Amino acid sequence: MYDLIIIGGGPAGVSAGVYAARKRLKTLFVTSDWGGQSIVSEGIENWIGTINIPGADLATRLKEHLEAYKSDIVTIKDHEKVIAVEKSGDHFVVKTESGESHETKTVLAVAGSHRRKLDIPGAAQYENKGITYCASCDGPLFAGKDVVVIGGGNAGFETAAQLLAYTNSVTLIQRGTEYRADPVTVEKVLANPKMRGITNTELVAVEGGQFVEAVVYKDMADGQTKKVPCGGIFVEIGLVPSTEFLKGVVELNNYGQVVIDPRTQATTTQGIWAAGDCTDVLYHQNNIAAGDAVRALEDIYMHIAKQ
Ligand SMILES: Cc1cc2nc3c(=O)[nH]c(=O)nc-3n(C[C@H](O)[C@H](O)[C@H](O)COP(=O)(O)OP(=O)(O)OC[C@H]3O[C@@H](n4cnc5c(N)ncnc54)[C@H](O)[C@@H]3O)c2cc1C
Repeated sequence: MYDLIIIGGGPAGVSAGVYAARKRLKTLFVTSDWGGQSIVSEGIENWIGTINIPGADLATRLKEHLEAYKSDIVTIKDHEKVIAVEKSGDHFVVKTESGESHETKTVLAVAGSHRRKLDIPGAAQYENKGITYCASCDGPLFAGKDVVVIGGGNAGFETAAQLLAYTNSVTLIQRGTEYRADPVTVEKVLANPKMRGITNTELVAVEGGQFVEAVVYKDMADGQTKKVPCGGIFVEIGLVPSTEFLKGVVELNNYGQVVIDPRTQATTTQGIWAAGDCTDVLYHQNNIAAGDAVRALEDIYMHIAKQ
């Protein structure tokens, strides 16, 4: 029986893992991959103590940090996905995709979030054939092309701003009548002569041959179906918390985020804590995730010490 199972290998998970090793809690650390969401970032400039670090390098550093201190107290299982957490008497059973079951006194969920996928006809078919979810990773492949960005929040406008540097044109499609990004950003990006914004739409389909060729949408103002020819589509329609394995086990809010007590990171189920982007805290950043996980570890340690 483990004292603790940590689920997730982003900044929150690794931070918790290092603290678990220091506190000598017998821990299983399970993660699908290392580094978390900002692994795709070209340069992270606000990871405190480091002036600028590419996301991929941050992932390597995090892995090295935990491996350096895990000793015989933290067991790491990477490339492994948790599919269920079940209560069993006074402890929990954590089940993984490869069919393993592990017993533990406590659980820390630090599984973060993942991108919301485009869910219209043609979207699945053209994923990686012109549809992408990461401008900083894939943007240069679309140099000289006409591209579409879907989503009018800050992420959508930041993606558009990046793409304007090397594409022929960028058309940003927003569902509602108003953009959700900061007005200053909207104004600046839309001022670029290669940029076009379309609002008040309902997406209908992605069309193409071997590769993406167009986005079809309904113009809600006149009810007509229209088409934007394009050689690439960048999707920025938000994040979904990775909490499927906690459904029915802890309270989740309407967005699927884990409801926590911000003083302790405890969930509504005794014995389970959560931290980072999978929780209902207002702000989601690398430093916040790492710090919140430390708070959780302090509370988990106190809980186990009292047993
Ligand atoms: C493109 C981009 C750029 C960003 N840039 C910055 C930035 O510059 N500065 C900044 O502060 N923040 C940035 N952020 C936000 C930051 O990345 C997040 O706040 C942070 O990664 C949250 O950390 P986390 O550990 O809570 O979750 P995540 O980073 O999402 O990590 C979750 C981990 O859990 C694993 N996992 C998920 N489900 C399971 C499962 N079922 N079983 C096992 N493992 C699982 C994942 O593989 C992953 O390793 C950026 C985000 C994005 C998307």
